[in-house]
Amino acid sequence: MSLETEQINELHWLMEMLHTIDVGLVVLDRDYNIQIWNGFMENHSGLLPREVKGKKLFSLFDEIPKEWFTRKAESVFLLKNKAFTIWEQRQYLFKFNNYRPITGSADFMYQNSTFIPLISASGEVTHLCLLIYDVTDNAVHKLELEQANEELAILSKTDGLTGLFNRRHWEHCLQGEYKRWSRSLNPSCLVMIDIDNFKRVNDSYGHMVGDEVLRHLSEVIKCHVRETDVSGRYGGEEFSILLSDTTAENAQIFAERLRQEIETALIKYNDIELSYTISLGIAQITTDMKTYEAWIESADKALYQSKESGRNKVTIF
Ligand code: GH3
Ligand code: MG
Ligand code: MG
Repeated sequence: MSLETEQINELHWLMEMLHTIDVGLVVLDRDYNIQIWNGFMENHSGLLPREVKGKKLFSLFDEIPKEWFTRKAESVFLLKNKAFTIWEQRQYLFKFNNYRPITGSADFMYQNSTFIPLISASGEVTHLCLLIYDVTDNAVHKLELEQANEELAILSKTDGLTGLFNRRHWEHCLQGEYKRWSRSLNPSCLVMIDIDNFKRVNDSYGHMVGDEVLRHLSEVIKCHVRETDVSGRYGGEEFSILLSDTTAENAQIFAERLRQEIETALIKYNDIELSYTISLGIAQITTDMKTYEAWIESADKALYQSKESGRNKVTIF
C-alpha cells in the first residue's frame, strides 16, 4: 500500500469514527452557520447533515439563548481559547430527549459542552467546534443523591411522631440563639411544656391514644408559633419552644393562650373522647446564665413550680 493510500485510509477511518462517536460534533463558521453535523447530532435531533448545513444555529434551535451563546463563542474566536459549559450551569445546549433506560426518569438529555477554536493555516480562528457530551446518567444520579441527602438531613432533625424538631437539633438551635444573644442581648425566652398526668392517659386509653394527644399538642404548638420560633419535642411528653426577641411578659401571653387552648380542646379517637392539660415554665435569658444548659434548667424549675402548685399553669422563672 502506498503512503498516500495509507493516509487516505486513515483519514477515511477518522471521518468514520467522528461520525459514529457517541459525542455530538458540530462545526460552526464565523456567522454561526452549521458546517459539520455528526451522527450523534443527527440521531438525537432527527435532522440530517444536509438539512442543517449552511443554516444558522439559532434559527434551528431556539432553546439556545443567542446572546449567552454568542458572548461565549466570541471569546473563543477572539482569545483562541476553549470554553466549557456544564449541566450544573445550563442543563443542556440542545434540547434532546433522553432515551437512556436506567435514567429514564429524566425528561431530557443533560449535556456538558466544549467550545473549541479551529485555527486555519493563516492562524485565524475561522470556525468553532462544539462537543456535546451526554451526561444524563451522572446528572440524574447526582440529583437523586442530593435529594436523598436533603431528605436525610430533614429526617435527622425531625421527631417522627410529631414532626417537630427532635431534641438534638432543637438544642443545637438553642445553642445558636444563646451565642447570638450574647452579642445582641435582645430579650429571648424559653418555654418548657409537660403534659399533666400523661401516664394516666396511657394507662386509661392505651399508648395509641397517648400518641394522638402528643400529635394534638404539637399541632397546636405549630399553629401558635411564629416562623422565627423554634419548637421541639424535648422528651417523651415534654416540649420546648424558643421564642427569640420576646420578653417574659409576651412569652407569658403566648404560654397562657396555649394552655387555655389545650384545656378546652376535646381529643377524639375512635369512640374515645378526652381532654388534657399542660404545665408550662418560662425563663427569659439573663447574664447570670453562663451556659445554654443553665437557661434550660431555669425554665425547667419554673415548669416544676407549675406542677407543684397544682398543674395546668404557667410560671415565669
Ligand atoms: P406529670 O403531670 O407529673 O407530668 O405526670 P406524668 O404522668 O405526665 O408524668 P411523667 O412525666 O413521669 O410521665 C410521662 C409518661 O409519658 C411516661 C411515658 O410512658 C409516657 N410517654 C413518653 N413518651 C411517650 C410516647 O411517645 N408515646 C406515649 N403514648 N407515651 C409516652
Ligand atoms: Mg414528663
Ligand atoms: Mg407529664
